[in-house]
Amino acid sequence: MKRPTIAQMRLFRNQLALRMLIPTETPKLLPYKRPKKTKCGQPPEPKLTIEMIPQSCWYENLRKELGREGWDRVRKAEYRRAGHKCEICGSVGVDQGFKWPVECHEKWEKDEETLTYRLVGLVVLCPLCHKAKHIGRTLHMDSVKVHHQVIEHILKVNKWKEFDLEDYLYSVADDWRRTGGMPWAVDMSWIDSYQAADEPEVKRSRRVHRGRFASRKRRRRV
Ligand SMILES: [Zn+2]
Repeated sequence: MKRPTIAQMRLFRNQLALRMLIPTETPKLLPYKRPKKTKCGQPPEPKLTIEMIPQSCWYENLRKELGREGWDRVRKAEYRRAGHKCEICGSVGVDQGFKWPVECHEKWEKDEETLTYRLVGLVVLCPLCHKAKHIGRTLHMDSVKVHHQVIEHILKVNKWKEFDLEDYLYSVADDWRRTGGMPWAVDMSWIDSYQAADEPEVKRSRRVHRGRFASRKRRRRV
């Protein structure tokens, strides 16, 4: 068997670090060891970040909240707003080997005082940026080839070396271990303000379908 190159070994090590981030039933039992400080100190501020969804908020999303038709309307309006290009790296999925150009990602904020996981907006992403955002899911669902593609993509977009990514992964793991198992409540009330800020075309279509939206919408009080 051919001996792996240093870069491949590093990639493998990164993958191990990534695997540590996969949420489990008992996040506090994940193995954890912080690596030695790298020569370059703190990694540069990432353009493309990884977002770990707290366990209590898994499966809560706008698609479920609005129903399929409502979600399709919102995400397509977002695609138009972004010019059908990734808002982080400027790429499109067809150039990355996917059959579609972009996907819609929900932005969330954590309010630790009230333990509220709050929807604060939407962002249009290429499939690789989206897979990076949901790295835990990607490692569960996608092939090793895609894992490598995603890692390479994060390094490229953030202009990082592999050790920058490793440091970042450990900081994400730290945050996950601290907050991932807390009983967060989901707040999607942001979607109410979306109607006012939307383009005229979408406003019209949403008004037409408002009854359907309202009846299908379930809002969890927090
Ligand atoms: Zn992108």
